[in-house]
Amino acid sequence: MTSANGFSDSQESDLVNEEDMKVLEKSIGCIPSYWIQNIIDDKIEENYDLEQQYLEENKPIKDEDEEQYYREIDSTPLPSRIPVKEEFPGRHNFQVSLGNQDSSKHWIYSQILKKVFINMEETLPLRLKWDPPEGGLLLRTAMVFSLDQYAGDPVRRCHNHTAPNNSSNRDVNLRVIKHVVRCTDSTSMYEERNEHLSVVTPLHRPQPGSQYVPVCFKFLCKNSCPSGMNRRPTELIFTLENSEKTVLGRRRLSVRVCSCPKRDKKKEEAEVLKTQSNVKKIKLNVPVGKKMMPSCDTHVFSVQLNVVGKENYLSVLKYAYDIMAGQAARTGQFEFFKPYMDDILRKTP
Ligand SMILES: [Zn+2]
Repeated sequence: MTSANGFSDSQESDLVNEEDMKVLEKSIGCIPSYWIQNIIDDKIEENYDLEQQYLEENKPIKDEDEEQYYREIDSTPLPSRIPVKEEFPGRHNFQVSLGNQDSSKHWIYSQILKKVFINMEETLPLRLKWDPPEGGLLLRTAMVFSLDQYAGDPVRRCHNHTAPNNSSNRDVNLRVIKHVVRCTDSTSMYEERNEHLSVVTPLHRPQPGSQYVPVCFKFLCKNSCPSGMNRRPTELIFTLENSEKTVLGRRRLSVRVCSCPKRDKKKEEAEVLKTQSNVKKIKLNVPVGKKMMPSCDTHVFSVQLNVVGKENYLSVLKYAYDIMAGQAARTGQFEFFKPYMDDILRKTP
């Protein structure tokens, strides 16, 4: 899992313990500063259509279940409502990569964050590869919340953008309207399972001379949309499936749909770099003996001392033996410490 600051949970625990994490959170604050600025920026542009939203909410909505490009498979039993995210290439070595970036800068990829920043309603080109590149397979694309605490919540469009008079919904099936992610392939099917939405695109063999199949997506809400994603980080989960909907491979890509991809990329990257430098500072300031693992220092020192009195001599040997035994117990590195401890026992009269 990836948290809001860009670290995986396991990375966080490797870098800093719980106590230090509290200090760290206190020093950087609970809400990243770039979010606060974005709230101000986005509020200005979102206010204009709030009134429209209330006017449209009372309109009756026609159900068009018979539309052929929509299939609902709610009847499929699922073991859990929480989407699975673990990546695996599978026996088809399923790979997803980004297409070429045009000069428009409507989307931008952050190498540091492994994340795409894209404008709403702009096209994100992807390239799919699987081996052997046989046809008849399906690509399922689902947008999910990145944080574990929201993993069970379905990602849906907000009230404003699902309004029937919104230009993005013109001539679009009402059941498709609630999907944040749309595939530009018109043969795609829009599905709903346990309230979670996904779009399923039939895959054909790559064109002659090509190693991949291009697939493009658009996003019909921003991450900042209140009543929708509501500022929660999201990612796309791609699954390669056969006609029985068996998952053959899975890939993921973090995506933020926003007004200024370049600006937001810069801010999120700065947050992560700042957090990393704070973690380094905390680690450097940790007093030796309190936090440093004794096993960090495995350099062996030879001591030649003249000690007055047998009791004192034995005490020195015993102390040296005991501190190494303690470190061996705490670090589990008995194999490393044992020959040096045995050497002390041999020298003890
Ligand atoms: Zn929206």
